[in-house]
Amino acid sequence: MPDTLQRSGALIDPARLDAMMTAVSAFGGGEDGSMMRLTLSAEDGRARDWLGAWFAGNGFAGKIDPIGNQFGFAGMGGSNAPVVLVGSHLDSQPNGGRFDGALGVVSACEAIRAVREALERRGVLSACEFAVVNWTNEEGARFQPSLLGSSVFTGAAELDWALERRDGSGISVGEALSSIGYAGTDHVAVPGAYVELHIEGGPFLERENTRFGIFTRFWGATKYRLAFLGRQAHTGPTPMAERLDALLAGAHVVTGLKALAGAYGLDLHTSVGRLEVFPNSPNTVPSEAVLFIELRSGSATVLAEAEERLNAMIEAAAKEAGVGFEIRSVDRRIAGPMDAGLVGLAERSAAGHGVVSRHLDTIGGHDAVSLAAVCPSIVLAVPSVGGVIHHPTELTRPEDQAFGTQVLADMLMTLATDGLAALQSRDEAA
Ligand SMILES: [Zn+2]
Repeated sequence: MPDTLQRSGALIDPARLDAMMTAVSAFGGGEDGSMMRLTLSAEDGRARDWLGAWFAGNGFAGKIDPIGNQFGFAGMGGSNAPVVLVGSHLDSQPNGGRFDGALGVVSACEAIRAVREALERRGVLSACEFAVVNWTNEEGARFQPSLLGSSVFTGAAELDWALERRDGSGISVGEALSSIGYAGTDHVAVPGAYVELHIEGGPFLERENTRFGIFTRFWGATKYRLAFLGRQAHTGPTPMAERLDALLAGAHVVTGLKALAGAYGLDLHTSVGRLEVFPNSPNTVPSEAVLFIELRSGSATVLAEAEERLNAMIEAAAKEAGVGFEIRSVDRRIAGPMDAGLVGLAERSAAGHGVVSRHLDTIGGHDAVSLAAVCPSIVLAVPSVGGVIHHPTELTRPEDQAFGTQVLADMLMTLATDGLAALQSRDEAA
């Protein structure tokens, strides 16, 4: 990548990156490529120790907050320089892969180190401080919910509540943190920006032969628990015209939701994943049918519109079946865009290597979705072979790991030079 050397000077070292990936993969890694590093397990503890040792060995100041989020401050810029956090998570799914999360933490270390070295060579002070972050329990495999560490960090979840979450054996997050020595006491403030590099975990980049993607939107969800209320009766003698069948109304909504999704192309996912019928007897007309409904979209507008249409559908279905209904709970997770300034910066940085960025949606979630509520945030994506994630065969090729890390370093170099003002200029590509 000689063009990069001339352009920004923050040249990452693919061999160093590779060596770090190999080193961190030893903690919970199996010979078949699998990764078993559940959050706050002994393996996670050793991976954290390894990261902490890397911080110490490379002049990064380590910090641990009360939910166990692990930070390493590079010590760049003056004391008033805005902080840019860069990272992801070291925890994995059971029998997962080794790149999900870990690559984001390791690439943050390498990219920040490259930027710091370049600035030191020139004798230039950075306009930003940079810090690596490893968020606690992104995966939500051992403790629920997922994104726990980043949610506490942003204030979306209460610390005390989070520390009380328990795994299948009854061990709390607080106890697990203490047992591996990561119940921290440091306070880390909300940063000026957050940048995360992650494997795509989907098929689009590879399929389109594109090396680099940007998650520009995160999907929201609207969840209803809806009860149709009819009248219990014998399915034999009761005349058809006199039946008030709660399940029939539910059936109208099940098929109606499928049609509703069809009306929005790829922009809306709908489902009824669970149905509870009362009294659930083969020869009794159901008096109650409870539907667990989900609407998901990357567009807040589509989500709101779909919810309106769902409500009309519910009323029509109730009328058609002659039953009543009750919406027993509504849960809304908002959809939204990632920061336009960071998207522009990522696009310009990739364009500097002649690569056009593919825009992607994140449906499952990333820590950057938590952070997006409190500061400009973004997730950069590198290709996943076969689109595989959460599986031992999960793979991002070394050259793609290196390329993504180089684009990340170029972005950080621009931030180091121009400060957060770099996020205002969204025009001309570099
Ligand atoms: Zn992940």
